[in-house]
Amino acid sequence: MGSSPKLSLQPIIWLNVISLILLHLVGVYGILFLVTSTHWKTYIWGYTIGTLSGIGITGGAHRLWSHKAYKAKTPLKIILLIFYSMAGQNTIYDWVRDHRVHHKYTETDADPHNSKRGFFFAHVGWLMQRKHPEVLSKGALIDMSDITNDPILEFHRKYFTILKILFCFIIPVAVPCIFWKEKLSCSIITMGFVRYMLGLNFTWLVNSAAHIWGNKPYDKKINPSENKSVAILSLGEGWHNYHHVFPWDYKAAELGDYTFNITTAFIDFFAKIGWAYDLKTPSPELIKKITLNHGDGTHPKYHQDSDHHEEVPCPNEEENLKQD
Ligand SMILES: [Zn+2]
Ligand SMILES: [Zn+2]
Repeated sequence: MGSSPKLSLQPIIWLNVISLILLHLVGVYGILFLVTSTHWKTYIWGYTIGTLSGIGITGGAHRLWSHKAYKAKTPLKIILLIFYSMAGQNTIYDWVRDHRVHHKYTETDADPHNSKRGFFFAHVGWLMQRKHPEVLSKGALIDMSDITNDPILEFHRKYFTILKILFCFIIPVAVPCIFWKEKLSCSIITMGFVRYMLGLNFTWLVNSAAHIWGNKPYDKKINPSENKSVAILSLGEGWHNYHHVFPWDYKAAELGDYTFNITTAFIDFFAKIGWAYDLKTPSPELIKKITLNHGDGTHPKYHQDSDHHEEVPCPNEEENLKQD
């Protein structure tokens, strides 16, 4: 755990560098110059698919598949896979392995987006270069049998590229052109570039901003922090101090309502109709004990000096390893 971050640069992946620069150049152009010439329905469509694709990441790849914080029936898994494909990120296998190794070796050389290497590296720089050897060796040891044994995820792996092109690019771009006669060039730039660019950046902020800025009510010794702005943009994933202490909580947060955690609203809805079940969450007593023992004193309800409390170990280590 205690290895120092090396600043040695791994070989650059130029294809990623060029595509990411291009994506951002066209994306920023779209934001600056297409504000008034875009149909209002395209804005609503962009917001809708942006939110749904975000839930594919947060409710699917993150809380369901990486952390097994709840269980989902087949129809919900299929919905989440479609949403996930709309976000246009890596395969679920890569996403989950990178995320599990991030939790297990947070802010060491084995952390794929080690935030001790700075904001840029944690945000996007890590995608522009080959992985650190420690990430590869520790990543290879992560148990991924639940992912490889799931036939639905196996189907997704097999048709990954087709599904990504269809749900992330073709459908988002085609719908405005077909249904409200949006100009094709405008739809390509706003849906294919602006919407995609924003979605990626909102995900990346959890790895960068929420590992740098914010308070630490649950464990003051770690860098992941509570960051309300990130929570809004990432549909509920900004409560990151809490999440690194209780990674198996399906809410990924203790406080804040649905406004700051749309993903939890989504999972709660599907729990009501029975498609999501076995939702895991710690007891208020456990949260209180951990907060009083390890927090930085900024918790709105629990203060170190206001209560007599018993010593308890932080659940970090053992719970992070718990992948039942
Ligand atoms: Zn993190
Ligand atoms: Zn996580």
